[in-house]
Amino acid sequence: MSSPLLRVVQEGDVLNAPEFKRKLVQIAGLSKKFGQDVVLKDISLDVSAGEVLTLIGPSGSGKSTLLRCINLLETPSEGTISIDGEAIWNSREPGSRLSAKRLAAKRSEIGMVFQRFNLFPHLTVLENVSIGLTKVLGKTKSEAGETATHFIEAVGLSRFLGAYPATLSGGQQQRVAISRALAMRPKLMLFDEPTASLDPELVGEVMDVMRMVARTGTTMVVVTHEMHFAEDIADRVVFLDGGRVVEEGVPSEVLRKPRHERTAAFLSRVL
Ligand code: ADP
Ligand code: MG
Repeated sequence: MSSPLLRVVQEGDVLNAPEFKRKLVQIAGLSKKFGQDVVLKDISLDVSAGEVLTLIGPSGSGKSTLLRCINLLETPSEGTISIDGEAIWNSREPGSRLSAKRLAAKRSEIGMVFQRFNLFPHLTVLENVSIGLTKVLGKTKSEAGETATHFIEAVGLSRFLGAYPATLSGGQQQRVAISRALAMRPKLMLFDEPTASLDPELVGEVMDVMRMVARTGTTMVVVTHEMHFAEDIADRVVFLDGGRVVEEGVPSEVLRKPRHERTAAFLSRVL
């Protein structure tokens, strides 16, 4: 598929060319407790620029919490997290915490797409995609409108610029949510089960858009149960169970020849 998204992204000189040597995310010794519950245990994980990493694992294994720690929507209990070389969290040096302003700037480098589409119901598609550009990036309304229009076109929804979210299908809404995140020109995109609340016949169109995003060289961390996506698109699969990284590797190994019993048991349930 020739990718209109690729064109927009390149014209905007937005995202990272695949250069797998640069570490965009560095996580070391990350633990997270909710009260007495330890839900992430000593996670160490790097994501390289341009890499597509898929996180898989049973419900409750900590996938969402791990994603949310990457942009500090959750506060880690232990460990360090760096984004593009800058420490955003270091539990050993509480004094080193980012200022609210710096944190906001850092967060704006990270796009997130959730299971629920989280569009503003009272705003049109164009307004939904433009609002971050004006409010967070300080673009003028016309600049924002132009950029937003490009990204909405790129996900195939130019007919719906003036439509309200409630009039769109779930798949269309999720494509808007993805274009909204991409329009901010993030260094990193996080996806938390982006197709999990869609009717089965709408999963494909969202997966197609995600394939397009992957082809632009965008660094992606994707929590998904769509094993075909993992197999076709991911550079690496990480299997999480009980808050720990049990196994990681290239998809053909982890999904087809898992080394751990727990990975095999999980895959036998979902494949
Ligand atoms: P997954 O996304 O893999 O299904 P989560 O990261 O959502 O798993 O949850 C991991 C564990 O942490 C679960 O046991 C869940 O109940 C618990 N948990 C998640 N968020 C909270 C929270 N805000 N407060 C208390 N426990 C939580
Ligand atoms: Mg989850």
